[in-house]
Amino acid sequence: MSNPNDPSLRSFIDVAPTSDFPIQNLPYGVFSTAGAARRVGVAIGDFILDLAEIARAGLLPETPVGIFEAAALNPFMALGPVVWTAARRRISALLQADAPRLRDDAGLRARALVPMAQASLHLPFAVSAFSDFYSSLQHASNAGMILRGPNAALMPNWRHMPIGYNSRASTVVVSGTPVRRPLGQLKTGEAPPVMGPCAKLDFELEMGFVIGQPSTMGEMLDQDAAERMIFGFVLLNDWSARDIQAFEYQPLGPFLAKAFATTISPWVVTREALEPFRTATPAQEPAPLPYLRQTGLQNYDVHLEVDLQTAKMSAPVTISHSNFKYMYWSSLQQLMHHASTGCAMSVGDLLGSGTISGDDKTERGSLLELSWNGTEPLALGDGETRKFLEDGDRLTFRGWAQGEGYRVGFGEAAGLILPAPPAPV
Ligand code: CA
Repeated sequence: MSNPNDPSLRSFIDVAPTSDFPIQNLPYGVFSTAGAARRVGVAIGDFILDLAEIARAGLLPETPVGIFEAAALNPFMALGPVVWTAARRRISALLQADAPRLRDDAGLRARALVPMAQASLHLPFAVSAFSDFYSSLQHASNAGMILRGPNAALMPNWRHMPIGYNSRASTVVVSGTPVRRPLGQLKTGEAPPVMGPCAKLDFELEMGFVIGQPSTMGEMLDQDAAERMIFGFVLLNDWSARDIQAFEYQPLGPFLAKAFATTISPWVVTREALEPFRTATPAQEPAPLPYLRQTGLQNYDVHLEVDLQTAKMSAPVTISHSNFKYMYWSSLQQLMHHASTGCAMSVGDLLGSGTISGDDKTERGSLLELSWNGTEPLALGDGETRKFLEDGDRLTFRGWAQGEGYRVGFGEAAGLILPAPPAPV
């Protein structure tokens, strides 16, 4: 069988060069159609290949029968990287232009190839835990300058470890889920705090990765072990309430300000599909401690964009673009650090990269940075401006790795801002 990452591969299904889902991608998701249960599929062009159907036809011999009839990727991920590789090769071979088995079987094609427009996409895996990092040097420097001034932009620990915190798995939602403006304790000046609607609602442009293999409590991970545990990547919007955060975060860090919603893309792009897009991590100075050292190319060249459509707009405008390759600490280092005290990792754990900002002003991954905490309102081009998100704003993240004539994309991570509920009096 040919290498699924071969740029020359083509499918018998037409895929536009700007589609996120060429045969080189094959991301996994969970979908449903009218009257049928949720099951696992793979995106190909404008279609979803129904893996439950393909497995029933006996075409996925490496995976146990029924594994793709689950409403989540967790049982498949738990099978481990040898099976992931085998399944990817099998699915690629089945979809190639010169492969007759599925191509020429009209009955199976009708059952197994579902037009994406007729399907609902769901949260792709059961999120067992969610930890979020703070690993973009540009973002950490910007946020530090805004909150603490230029002389204390980076905290003393920042260049020694990937800083992170334990967030909430319960409110990780799939793209398209509306996000209600949260209520929280707000404090201005010397007056006592009030319970009211967040006035500084923000997004955070992030990538997430999902753990597909567990580690044992007490076990540290070396580079090889950590790498084998990473199943794939998603787009991630870590919605944030900056004003709620400002009052609650001392001394233990963010709590409810980042716990009300986190949106991920419905498609999990596998680590294997991103292999051709590996690139170097920025130089790390000082050198990390030995348990954090890594060899090889450990960042990924994934272009990221943020589109905003206000209630008044008929089409969205792009307000930021960035790249996953700007990360100072790699996903691999985040995972090795997370397990380093013996913290057990589980199948379905989601780890967020942290906001990904670049050097340029247009590459800032949050409104906190784009509007410099509201002091420089962002002009949207239609006369409107934004300091932070307003009710009726619809935000859409997109991301893709660009190959020669094709792109390996993630689909969208989108959410519409709904008004806050009435504050209790
Ligand atoms: Ca975050």
